[in-house]
Order: sequence, then C-alpha cells, then structure tokens
Amino acid sequence: MPSSRFAVPVASLRRRPAGSRRVFVRGPVDDLAVLAVEVPTGADVVVDLVLSSYQGGIAAAGSIEAPWRAECRRCGGRVDGSVHTEVRERFVQSDQVGEDEDAYPLDGDVVDLLPLVRDAVMLALPLAPLCADDCRGLCPVCGADRNAAPCGCEARRDPRWAGLDVLSAGPAAEEDTGT
Ligand SMILES: [Zn+2]
Ligand SMILES: [Zn+2]
Repeated sequence: MPSSRFAVPVASLRRRPAGSRRVFVRGPVDDLAVLAVEVPTGADVVVDLVLSSYQGGIAAAGSIEAPWRAECRRCGGRVDGSVHTEVRERFVQSDQVGEDEDAYPLDGDVVDLLPLVRDAVMLALPLAPLCADDCRGLCPVCGADRNAAPCGCEARRDPRWAGLDVLSAGPAAEEDTGT
C-alpha cells in the first residue's frame, strides 16, 4: 500500500465521471539516477498534474520538474541543471492493466504517482551532459584541465614543431658521434 506523499486518494474523483482535480505535490524521490547524472538526495521533485476520471481509470496530465547534478563527460567538472517534462499517462484498475499495457496500476482508490514520477524523470535526465558546449576537457597526454589553462601538449605534438626539434637536435647529435 503506497503511503508516500505521492499517493493521492481518488475515491471521490472516481465517483464523478469526467470529473477532474488538480494535484500539486513536491518532495524528494530516492535513487533517481542515470549513469553519471543524479537528482541530488533530498532535493524536491515538483509534480503538477490534473487527474481526470474516465470510465475504467484515471488520466494524469501535466508537468514534472526535478533538479539534477552530474559530472561533465569531458572534464569531470560539476554540472547542475533541471528537467521539466510533460506527462500524459493513465492509471487503470490493477486487474485490467494487462488490457492497457502502457497504463500504471490503480490500487483501489489511491493513485500512486511515484512510479510515474520516477519514469518521467529518468527519461528526461540528460545522458552525458557537458559543463559548457565548448568544454575543452582534460588533456589526454598530461591530464590537465584545458578549460583552466592550455597545457602545451598539443603544441609539442604539432608536426611543424616536430620539424624544428629535428633541426635543433641535428648539430648536437653530430657532436656526440664526433667525440
Ligand atoms: Zn567540462
Ligand atoms: Zn597536456
């Protein structure tokens, strides 16, 4: 039996065909994470839905918002953001869910919004965010954060500089063999 703040009693709503009711709930949802992106523990998820009764169930439509935190996929720096997603789902009597496969189960006269909220936020979270579109990332050679300062590794590997290296090394090499 759902007992969280996301469990909404709908007995009176179900007695009024085509009746509707706005539901606004906010609160933390545990374990909302995809790869390196997570909704911070204890952060509020904001749910703003209109529940409508129809023959056979309850329809839910509206928006869900959640903050997220992640590591930039290039530099590993912290990235903060938020998702805002629109949902339109149905809750049907548990023994009839099989006939409406996309629907969530309706447990007696209680709509448990938690599974819907969880699914919607998971789908909306970015998979591999960047701290900035032009994040330069970490240098693959020395590991320095190239957003902070250029490390010079790329310049050293530039073929034009490689040519100068050979020229400057030439005379020294001849001296070595001459002695
Ligand atoms: Zn970055
Ligand atoms: Zn480097």
